[in-house]
Amino acid sequence: MKTTTLLNYAQDQWYEASSGLAEVQSAVSGDTIAVTGSEGLDFAAMLRHARNVGGPALRRMTFHQRAWMLKDLANAVMARKEELYELSYDTGATRNDGWIDIEGGAGTLFSFSSKGRRELPNGRVLVDGAMEPLSKGGTFVGQHVYTPLQGVAVHINAFNFPVWGMLEKLGPTLLAGVPAIVKPASATGYLAEAAFRIMIEAGVLPPGALQLVMGGVGDLFDHLTLQDVVSFTGSAQTAMKLQSHPVIARESVRFIAERDSLNASILGPDAAPGTPEFDLFVKEVAREMTVKAGQKCTAIRRAMAPAEHLDALQAALTERLGKARIGDPREEGVTMGALASRSQLVGVRAAVAELAKSARIVAGDPEAPPVAGNGAFMAPVLLRTDDPWNTPAVHDVEAFGPVSTIMPYRDLDDAIALANRGMGSLALSLFTFEPAVAEAFVLGSGAYHGRMMILDRTSAKESTGHGSPLPVLVHGGPGRAGGGEEMGGVRGVTHYMQRTALQGSPAVLSSVVGQWLPGAPKVEGEVHPFRKRISELDIGYTLKTASRAVTLEDIEHFAHFTGDTFYAHMDEEAAKASPIFEGRVAHGYLILSFAAGLFVEPSPGPVLANTGLENLRFQTPLYPGDSMRVELTVKTKSVRDEEKGEVRWAVYVFNQKDEVVATYDLLTMNRP
Ligand code: NAP
Repeated sequence: MKTTTLLNYAQDQWYEASSGLAEVQSAVSGDTIAVTGSEGLDFAAMLRHARNVGGPALRRMTFHQRAWMLKDLANAVMARKEELYELSYDTGATRNDGWIDIEGGAGTLFSFSSKGRRELPNGRVLVDGAMEPLSKGGTFVGQHVYTPLQGVAVHINAFNFPVWGMLEKLGPTLLAGVPAIVKPASATGYLAEAAFRIMIEAGVLPPGALQLVMGGVGDLFDHLTLQDVVSFTGSAQTAMKLQSHPVIARESVRFIAERDSLNASILGPDAAPGTPEFDLFVKEVAREMTVKAGQKCTAIRRAMAPAEHLDALQAALTERLGKARIGDPREEGVTMGALASRSQLVGVRAAVAELAKSARIVAGDPEAPPVAGNGAFMAPVLLRTDDPWNTPAVHDVEAFGPVSTIMPYRDLDDAIALANRGMGSLALSLFTFEPAVAEAFVLGSGAYHGRMMILDRTSAKESTGHGSPLPVLVHGGPGRAGGGEEMGGVRGVTHYMQRTALQGSPAVLSSVVGQWLPGAPKVEGEVHPFRKRISELDIGYTLKTASRAVTLEDIEHFAHFTGDTFYAHMDEEAAKASPIFEGRVAHGYLILSFAAGLFVEPSPGPVLANTGLENLRFQTPLYPGDSMRVELTVKTKSVRDEEKGEVRWAVYVFNQKDEVVATYDLLTMNRP
């Protein structure tokens, strides 16, 4: 069997360790397939290279340019995915498991790419929330912004998802504009190295953006600074060790920890045998035990059911687990592969032995011989305790394999308390068709869990499952789970940026953040803004329209034409009697329509379509006889492609007394 020497990637060069190489075995055959190590790397130089070369290059790019780069990386991985699947089998993963890791990883990059282009500006500063007025006259205001950290993201990954684990961290990091040094887990590093190599060979990353460490991290932590982030996934033990490094405390280095978790799944009190929710629960617990041979940080470790249904649950689960076909994942029909390594097998067996001191094994034999070769195979093991409050191990010991414990609860409060006894988890699922049960659980348990999936017959078919972290949702959990947060869409990007509260004049802050802020200068010109392409429109460019009168006839015409004969527009007495109006008022929608009539330039041109309104507020009623005028100001602009882009306009409608009648953001699709 060919043994591959895995290479590090430092300062834009591939580098073979000078000595101290460790052997890595196939999880399936037990044969040595790779040697790996990082001795001889100059970690301080790697950090300097990332800070001095990678960071500045990434920060010169806009969010959108970085988002397109992520898309290119994801496409590169997808184009060569079969090479990765081939290696993935040796990690013990079936094709399905590999799909989660490889295509799920690429999908995460695609998701961050698309979020980046849709939700982030085509600029370099990310505005956080609305402007805060800080003065009476409006000349001194506040605005929160995010800018990229100027250091390095050090990613330390677990062995179970070598590709996804790497890409789910790289997506938000690169999108933020921060270079990364990736350190995969040794046991499955050969798959991470191959995926990393594909990304480097795609040729889309600026120099210094990515580096790879295929072994120990030497003195790297000694050189970290306040601008760096350590993003760690793995065991609580390693996390605590790394987190207590003196430099982490001294420099306040950000440390994101994704640790282990005794995730719970609860069969609702209403979900008796025979209900769809009972069947869904059985299916999900069995699936979580067998997918990836149970080596998922989010897998269900504790399955809870009303005491009277525990026997039925045990019977149904045992039957379902019996259907798993364990073996060489390359073989047709195999549904469950091996653990990632022999040492992992030893660890899981030891954890089961610990659990079995107080709970009893009711299905599966942890000591059964391997089903093929010298691989790290293990059948699913189901344990049971009937006294969960006096069986602490089931809430404390994580067997990172196909292992789960079923346990009874007395009532809803007991179930909530048991779920929380895990002392902080990544994911909880609840199977109920009773909204009141769901509400009680969320209120009683939300504070202990990073993600909660409430499943019933209506959502099951399209559900993404208990164990799947999603790029658009936060992944991470409190307490034992590490207290970290990853992904969650744009939230994940901000983990690699610094939030700063800016204070100053609206004019200065506008130019800093690249968007018009209330109070900043409005610049008028000869040309109607609808006659300008995005490239010709300046932020703050403003159209001030003529004014028009709004009559009672207008209001009545609009009411009958649209059918909106709401009392406030049609009934003088009733309108007067309301605490809000002094008499009949113009419809808000009439004001919007008249506003469009005032600011629109009708002939075909750079403005292609109106795509929406946001943040609409009607502030002052408009009475018959009043008049109105509009100010339309370019707030932000963003080119999407060669054909189109989006302009966000700040719209202010005033009455004849210059009081603000309505404000909103108008969105248009424009030619670039
Ligand atoms: P681990 O032993 O803690 O290793 C995790 C990573 O830390 C590996 O890359 C490992 O490298 C590295 N590492 C170990 N000691 C180090 C040190 N002194 N300095 C720098 N790096 C060091 O965990 P694991 O066994 O790989 O992963 C399984 C655990 O991870 C389970 O408990 C699981 O629950 C948890 N996990 C959590 C999540 C989550 O998102 N919360 C996801 C997956 C897994 P080497 O491999 O080279 O030692």
